[in-house]
Amino acid sequence: MHFELGSLRFDLISDGLFELRPETFVKVTKGRNAELLDKTKFRPRIKVGFNSLLIRGEGQTVLIDPGTGDKERIAERRSYNLDWPRNLLPALRELGVRREQIDFVVLTHLHWDHAGACTTVGPGGQIEATFPKARYVLQQRELDGARAGVASGDDGYAADDFEPLAQAGKLDLISRDDHELLPWLTLHWSGGHSPGHLVARIGFPGEQKLMYLSDVLPTTAQLPLESGMSYDQNPAELTEAKRKFMTLAARERDIVVLVHAPRNRIGFLSETTPGTFRLEHLSP
Ligand SMILES: [Zn+2]
Repeated sequence: MHFELGSLRFDLISDGLFELRPETFVKVTKGRNAELLDKTKFRPRIKVGFNSLLIRGEGQTVLIDPGTGDKERIAERRSYNLDWPRNLLPALRELGVRREQIDFVVLTHLHWDHAGACTTVGPGGQIEATFPKARYVLQQRELDGARAGVASGDDGYAADDFEPLAQAGKLDLISRDDHELLPWLTLHWSGGHSPGHLVARIGFPGEQKLMYLSDVLPTTAQLPLESGMSYDQNPAELTEAKRKFMTLAARERDIVVLVHAPRNRIGFLSETTPGTFRLEHLSP
């Protein structure tokens, strides 16, 4: 689906479905739970989506969270029953967007389901940038956290998704909490789900904006401030980030994107009583 805000055109691209165990959706206060992430135990699954955002306008082409990508992902395909192949790269082709045309890839964080598509296997078998002319923009704290995660065996991160880009000098690392990437695109550190998790806000000053909350609010199941996922690394930080960004989105009537919603993927938030939010859906 696509829509416009002034001179900016947005395409919300579904990368495909995958499955999580219901217990993954937890009270945020429980935090990260290794038991729930034990993939050897089969449990019933729930379908979740993945929604990337393409923005074109003002002479720029920006992709936010390109998704899983086309590297093999044998373990993840088995564990999460990923729709395969993933849809982002074919969807870009259908939209007439060539990989060389992407100027910026914004990464809210480096988990494989969000950042796997940053790299691909080149003709000689080497892993290289999927979007050869793009700058890849992320928080310094996320790169540090992802490297620590890889070193400690956290399989939410895969070095192949970002180390080839670091080696090629393609990463733009943000060290401040708030960063203006373009006059109509700002990036805000949230933390919580991962150490350097970002929220992106798109739109011109004084005009309607869109907020890409990513895993601050992945689906409507996480609308209550105390609800999260078993993947969240810092529950207290996440609760604060939810309060801050959801309140802002509700007050400013931002269009919000739910990154893991399989349907009803965008809408408006409203705060019915302080700290209680609901979502008015905008799309099928
Ligand atoms: Zn996610």
